[in-house]
Amino acid sequence: MQSTGSPQIVNDQLDGLFKLYPISISSTYLLVLVNCYALWSVVPTVHIVLWLSVATVVSIYRYSLFAIRTRNSTRLSPERWLIHNDVTSALSGMYWGYGLLYLVPPDSIAHMLIFVIAVTGLVSGASSSLSLSPRSFLLYMISCLMPMSILLYGMSDDYGWLLFGLCYFYIYFMWQTCLTIGENARLGIVQTVSLRQQKEELIASGRLLDLHFMGSPLGLIDWDEDLKIKRWNPAAASIFGYPESEILNQKPDFLLTDNAGRDYFKILRQGKQALANTVNSRKRDGGAVSCEWASTPLEDGSGTLLGYTSFVTDISKRLEHEQQITHQAFYDAVTDLPNRRYFYERLRQEMSRVQRGPNHSAVLFIDLDHFKNINDSLGHALGDELLKQFAMRLQNRLRQHEVLARLGGDEFVLLLEELDPDLDKSQAIAGQVAKALQTLIQEPFVLENNPYTLTCSIGITLFDKTDFNESEILKQADLALYRSKHRGRNCYSFFEQEMSEQALRHLILLNNVREAIGSEEFSLVFQPQVDIHTAELKGAETLLRWNNSELGRVSPAEFIPILESSTLIVEVGHWVLDHSFEQLKEWQLAALWHEPMRLAINISPRQLLDPDFIEQVTALLNKHELSPSLIEFEITENVLVQDVEKVGVILDKFASMGISFSIDDFGTGYSSLSYLKQLPIDVLKIDKSFIDHCTSEGNDQVIVRSILSICTELGLTSVAEGVETEEQQKKLQAMGCDLLQGYLYSRPVRADELSIMLSN
Ligand code: C2E
Ligand code: CA
Ligand code: CA
Repeated sequence: MQSTGSPQIVNDQLDGLFKLYPISISSTYLLVLVNCYALWSVVPTVHIVLWLSVATVVSIYRYSLFAIRTRNSTRLSPERWLIHNDVTSALSGMYWGYGLLYLVPPDSIAHMLIFVIAVTGLVSGASSSLSLSPRSFLLYMISCLMPMSILLYGMSDDYGWLLFGLCYFYIYFMWQTCLTIGENARLGIVQTVSLRQQKEELIASGRLLDLHFMGSPLGLIDWDEDLKIKRWNPAAASIFGYPESEILNQKPDFLLTDNAGRDYFKILRQGKQALANTVNSRKRDGGAVSCEWASTPLEDGSGTLLGYTSFVTDISKRLEHEQQITHQAFYDAVTDLPNRRYFYERLRQEMSRVQRGPNHSAVLFIDLDHFKNINDSLGHALGDELLKQFAMRLQNRLRQHEVLARLGGDEFVLLLEELDPDLDKSQAIAGQVAKALQTLIQEPFVLENNPYTLTCSIGITLFDKTDFNESEILKQADLALYRSKHRGRNCYSFFEQEMSEQALRHLILLNNVREAIGSEEFSLVFQPQVDIHTAELKGAETLLRWNNSELGRVSPAEFIPILESSTLIVEVGHWVLDHSFEQLKEWQLAALWHEPMRLAINISPRQLLDPDFIEQVTALLNKHELSPSLIEFEITENVLVQDVEKVGVILDKFASMGISFSIDDFGTGYSSLSYLKQLPIDVLKIDKSFIDHCTSEGNDQVIVRSILSICTELGLTSVAEGVETEEQQKKLQAMGCDLLQGYLYSRPVRADELSIMLSN
């Protein structure tokens, strides 16, 4: 036996060897008994008993081996088992060999024959029973046949050699037989073992596949060739909710909800190749589920279709997550309304649609009035809550073809699609919507049990086939909104073309003028005021000039209102004061300027009311070491009516310092004359619009005359502004005006030019 084979083969060979022990032990023992019986009368009993005892002991030994191995084949190592087998074989052979030499009487042919037949029979049996261990067989055969060969050799003088030779031929023959049988048996065992191994492997891999199938977190579905479900793993059961028992033999349609899914299986069938796609299905509880399917047709080597297999992953959560992200990108977090991005997209679509259809569409720009106040006083959380409620209330009233979005802050936009082919009608509809919307929000909103009333201003623009883009359309609505705010809020206005030009110019100027502060673009000019009778120079008015690199010279009539609409005027006003004072000081030092001449400086309402103004003026007077009596502030009537008491305090303060005041553009404002008595006013400047027509009889002349009489009455100095002709001058002289300012005498001039005039 080769103990070098695989452990299993060696083990199987040992099994083959020991399996035959019972039959060989019993047949051997039977032959022992037969011979004992035959020899009983011819051999002394002691010898027989002794031989029988040896044979019995060997048999017991052999049987014990068999019994032990049957119970536990691993009790000994394979090599040990073989050695025991060798020992028992040799012992068996020996008692048979000894028996022939010493037990059988050589002269009794019958006894001899019985014994020899038994021995040769046993040897030929052993050649097969011990074939798996040729070494044992050899030991057995030699130990029982060698004595026999000696015996045969001595039996006859003539044939001794022949018998001896025949005996060894027999030994050789048995040896070959044993080897051949052993080889075949071993081959058989090798095959059996490898077959058994293959079988075990197959079972193991099948079990593994089963484990995969059952334990996979992916839904796994096996279909037969007609696309009927054959197997369905627990993951598939948990995705779709059906246990395997309920789904067996079902076709795909059982799970599908839409045509896309049906198409998927149709293509899988036709295409005969692997196919992956997203498929929507229905679950057992009626809920929807979206899955990623990857399916493959299964074919054997010859191309015969055996069925299909599908891997299914539930991607509902992922899709939901993706939808959430998309939602966040296009919807406002506070109100859940579409956001700016969404609105632009929608507006773009609508604008390209109106190019083809007859109807107008409209955009309403909605802004909550004074929302900032609410936000500041209630806090942002409640502010947000208010926006939410506002949005919800509007949203609930939306009709088809209406899209409401939040642009940010308290700005909302409403897109009205498909209004009417007629512009006027469309405008009327949009106006109605705006009005309805304003009515809708009149009902108070409730925040923490407190009612809050809201109003909103709306700007509307209409469009049909237009060359504008989305942001221009929104800009138009925004400009219209701007107008609504100007009209006092809580109203709606329509966009008009000239609005945009004005507003654009306004924006450009605002941006540029902001940058001009602190640059060299501003400068001052001075327009002389002279005695209307003697033409003697009595003073001058400072006028601001702005020369912008891009816009060129911009009239103060245009940019001053823009500065006044923001706090920029305070900064610029300060600059004007500083430079005027500086210039005045220069003239004073050059002895060109002296009392009672005054330099008039225009002061805007915002500037005058600025809490720091008095302090600033005082500081500048100190800085330039100027006497306040050289200064006159020009203010307009409008500022006086804003807050008479407050203005009165400021004016009194300056008056007590010695600064004079003149009312600019007198006659164009509110003209409530009572303030003239209360306030420290020194000069009235008659507006140019009255001077223009003062020469001809009429209203303007009447107004000029009455202003002049007020001046006489109250002891005020009168200045006629914008005097351009001698005729005007003569008329004003005749009516008793004091001073003249206008092109007739001089345009506003640079400081150096005025210096020349002053020195003459
Ligand atoms: P205003 O105070 O009424 O200034 C008089 C305006 O009439 C000046 O225009 C002046 O150039 C112009 N004017 C004077 N005489 C004549 C004339 O005979 N014919 C005509 N056609 N016009 C004459 P300007 O300089 O364009 O100033 C316009 C307005 O800008 C001023 O009106 C004033 O309200 C404002 N402004 C100018 N400079 C300042 C400033 O430094 N501060 C403030 N707050 N406003 C200023
Ligand atoms: Ca003025
Ligand atoms: Ca004026």
